[in-house]
Amino acid sequence: MKQRIQEKFNTLFGEPGDLYASAGRINLIGEHTDYNGGYVFPGAIDCGIMAEIKVNGTQKVRAFSLDYDEYVEFGLQEEDKPEQQWARYIFGVCRETIKRCGKVEGFDTVFAGDVPLGAGLSSSAALESTYAFALNEIFGNGIDKFQLAKIGQSTEHNYCGVKCGIMDQFASLFGKAGSLIRLNCKTMEYKYFPFNPEGYRLVLIDSCVKHELASSAYNKRRASCENAAAAIRKNHPEVEFLSDAKRVWLDEVRDDIPEEDFLRAEYVIGEVQRVLDVCDALERGDYETVGEMMYQTHFGMSKLYEVSCEELDFLNKLARKMDVTGSRVMGGGFGGCTINLVKDELYMPFIEAVMDQFTEKFGHAPKVYNVVISDGARKL
Ligand code: ADP
Ligand code: MG
Repeated sequence: MKQRIQEKFNTLFGEPGDLYASAGRINLIGEHTDYNGGYVFPGAIDCGIMAEIKVNGTQKVRAFSLDYDEYVEFGLQEEDKPEQQWARYIFGVCRETIKRCGKVEGFDTVFAGDVPLGAGLSSSAALESTYAFALNEIFGNGIDKFQLAKIGQSTEHNYCGVKCGIMDQFASLFGKAGSLIRLNCKTMEYKYFPFNPEGYRLVLIDSCVKHELASSAYNKRRASCENAAAAIRKNHPEVEFLSDAKRVWLDEVRDDIPEEDFLRAEYVIGEVQRVLDVCDALERGDYETVGEMMYQTHFGMSKLYEVSCEELDFLNKLARKMDVTGSRVMGGGFGGCTINLVKDELYMPFIEAVMDQFTEKFGHAPKVYNVVISDGARKL
């Protein structure tokens, strides 16, 4: 990838610039916890975006996407918003940096990536984080990494129409090889935990389905959580978010809220605790417990939170049947990937079984992505 970028840069712009990169991400555990003020537990992965960048002395950005084989030029004012989706991510990062009083002037750039698009590994965050990090260094703005993550998030909100949380950009910027990061979505405090699963592999199985339900169901889940939190708050005023509630406090209001809301809340409160339990297990190097928690999350997402689907439940069941250490749906649900912690010796048989049996049942093959927890945004 690096060589292709450099060759193209040389052809288009001559003298070389500097190389920057950032990463896609996984979330080991902690799903639907972010908007409940709970924990998420992401890490950057060994696929991402790489970009060569050089200041060009004008007020124009000249950008080439190797993967789309497309060249775009745009100015840095609000009205210069480019048509191309991919260019909007770069434009948005420029604009959001400028809005935060950062300096951005014209530059030339060529970039490419190897995060599968739309698979739930956040290729868009990798793209934003690469440019947010690079422009900050190149123009000497001194913006801290947390604000850089916000620049990426605001880019999605204001220029790409995606109302995302902060996790993806946070992981992409703060990611470190061999570490996962527990982020408290209420206080934004974070802590690194070791993740070096020697003898295991982390593998994502992409069901390649996305069920339509996702966005309306998401809003309904949020409403259920808010309703449960409000009921608990009557007895325990300190409960700001559902994640602040103890399990027994939820039991106190069982008869006051619809059964459905109770089940949703049961999942969330359990999930927040599971993140903590997984962190403890990782500090002991106990990957079997980590795996067991992943199965519990899957059960919760499927049976209590009800955001799984037939394809994902099938993959999870197959993993369990084959004694895979851990497996669960990753992301919001209703499609996308499962994330699996698989012993080395089980890897080949597992992948073969998944390929054969999933394809036979659903008529299309899933995709397989092996990932290693790696560094996030950096200069090369
Ligand atoms: P994801 O879940 O992977 O973040 P999104 O739909 O949010 O999926 O972002 C994908 C978009 O990000 C693409 O449509 C494209 O505009 C941009 N993008 C991601 N990777 C690349 C790349 N390698 N080259 C050009 N654009 C990319
Ligand atoms: Mg995205």
